[in-house]
Amino acid sequence: MNPITRVAVVGGTHGNELTGIYLVKKFEQLPHLIRRSSFESIALLANPKAYELRRRYVDLDLNRCFRPQDLENPHLTSYEALQAKKIYQDLTANQTEQIGLLMDLHSTTANMGMTLILNHQHPFNLHLAAHLAAVYPEVKFYRWAQAEQDSPFLRSIYPLGCAIEVGPVAQGLLDAHLFRQTEALIHTILDYVEAYNRGQLFPTKETLTVYQCVQTIDYPRDGLGTMQAMIHPNLQSRDYEPLYPGDPMFLTFEGETIVYEGESILYPVFINEAAYYEKGIAMCLTHKELVTL
Ligand SMILES: [Zn+2]
Repeated sequence: MNPITRVAVVGGTHGNELTGIYLVKKFEQLPHLIRRSSFESIALLANPKAYELRRRYVDLDLNRCFRPQDLENPHLTSYEALQAKKIYQDLTANQTEQIGLLMDLHSTTANMGMTLILNHQHPFNLHLAAHLAAVYPEVKFYRWAQAEQDSPFLRSIYPLGCAIEVGPVAQGLLDAHLFRQTEALIHTILDYVEAYNRGQLFPTKETLTVYQCVQTIDYPRDGLGTMQAMIHPNLQSRDYEPLYPGDPMFLTFEGETIVYEGESILYPVFINEAAYYEKGIAMCLTHKELVTL
């Protein structure tokens, strides 16, 4: 692979996730912090209007607007659809035969600690992840079930990179600890790219633990879509812990426990994520996999 020529640090894809927004504002004011000698660095606030309104989005979720067919569709004219096209054009301008890496900074109300969401199965991404796992043993690696060629996510603009998802933190709230952890992770990634461009390789382990999403679970609802139960208190904040058949999942408003009826041990994440109520997702069930590099 050729050297990486451009690295984009994107925040505020969701306007109420302040960790990434204030990091991007910091990098806009102090661009030398993300500058390295071997590539161009860009800091980008992705959804400024949503941030002004202190909302996740204006018309629709910007981080579901990046499917190739949607970017080319002239009939999609919502604020976020137009913003997605603009971001795509800006980030891919003069990019012929160049290689870009993108970090998309998010936060979650779920207890997911520091999570890296991997894009493509590009070998570079897995080696970067393995390096980060060696430096930060507490970081977890997650993958959505989405097919790569149909990815709606902003991070898929470039073949390299990841989303950084940190929590738990409420929407619209800054948490200094998570802010600093995210910033450290960004610098480690920038340094890794710089070393890679210089032909330096970091020794890493040969395997990486990845939490692969296999299924999303909605809240129990009635025929009209009204929620009938909450996340069970025994499951709340237990992201990345094993869920065994028969374990409590939900608690109805009458106090009845609903258990996990699957047959295999899975690892739930995004448990009770506030932004996913409207998406019909109470949690994502993952399979813990050992990926060989
Ligand atoms: Zn987000």
